[in-house]
Amino acid sequence: MKTVNSIKDLKGHLAQERLKTKHIGFVPTMGALHDGHLSLVKHCVDENEVCVTSIFVNPTQFDDKNDLTTYPRTLDKDSALLETAGCNYLFAPSEKEMYPEPDTREFDFGNLACVMEGVHRPGHFNGVAQIVSKLFYAVGPCKAYFGEKDFQQIAIIQAMVERLNLNVEIVPCPILREADGLAMSSRNVRLTAQERTQAPRIAQTLKESAALAPDKTVRQVRDFVTHTLNNEPLLHVEYFEIADRHTLMPIDRWTDTTRPIGCIAVCCGNVRLIDNIMYNV
Ligand code: AMP
Repeated sequence: MKTVNSIKDLKGHLAQERLKTKHIGFVPTMGALHDGHLSLVKHCVDENEVCVTSIFVNPTQFDDKNDLTTYPRTLDKDSALLETAGCNYLFAPSEKEMYPEPDTREFDFGNLACVMEGVHRPGHFNGVAQIVSKLFYAVGPCKAYFGEKDFQQIAIIQAMVERLNLNVEIVPCPILREADGLAMSSRNVRLTAQERTQAPRIAQTLKESAALAPDKTVRQVRDFVTHTLNNEPLLHVEYFEIADRHTLMPIDRWTDTTRPIGCIAVCCGNVRLIDNIMYNV
């Protein structure tokens, strides 16, 4: 695996690779890699002749500066994990490399960015679109891999690809979980021992709620999840929405969509965790 820090070097290497293959896959990450990230890398390695993974903690997508400064950074360990996973290029640029000058682009994703994370993390998706578009321009992948844990992010990226007419296929990958159900996340290492014992209640409660649908109404299921989790002393539900999987518009009745998804953000102490569940109704 080669580690590259500049866009110019990356483009140079990939131009050479393109003489041999069209199949360049890409996994954008912010590092502090866990098995969830590595599952994306595995998909990428399996489906492409060249796998590029980026590690960049993107400041423009953090609405909470404390979250940015405390975000875990473990580049040496990440690099070793990527090498073992069969990644070919690690792109680890500096902030100056990605933003030689401020990115003033404003994306309009309409309703997709006006619900859930879009409401609770103002500017977050604009920052995501800024960095992912810059990374796509730098890498020029034919496929890019994203985790369904960040379900709304995938919808935003797909919309961005359409708006910018980019020639890249977005490949959604399933959520990887710890044995107790907690969705893997770089932020999990910031949970205290006590918080770590409560955090799995999020996934467990979502699973329990799936057994209630469609006999219970959408509202009853929503209330069940919110009340159950808010009853846990260290958990505080920021939002829980049941929405259509494509438009992400909240639904009031199960018959409003054939493909409902429940998306949640929960504060566990100082750590904000997200998760989701597909309802089969
Ligand atoms: P991040 O480093 O948090 O920006 O995540 C980089 C990519 O890994 C994103 O596409 C995430 O959705 C994905 N990812 C994060 N956690 C998981 C997980 N538990 N399972 C699958 N993919 C994940």
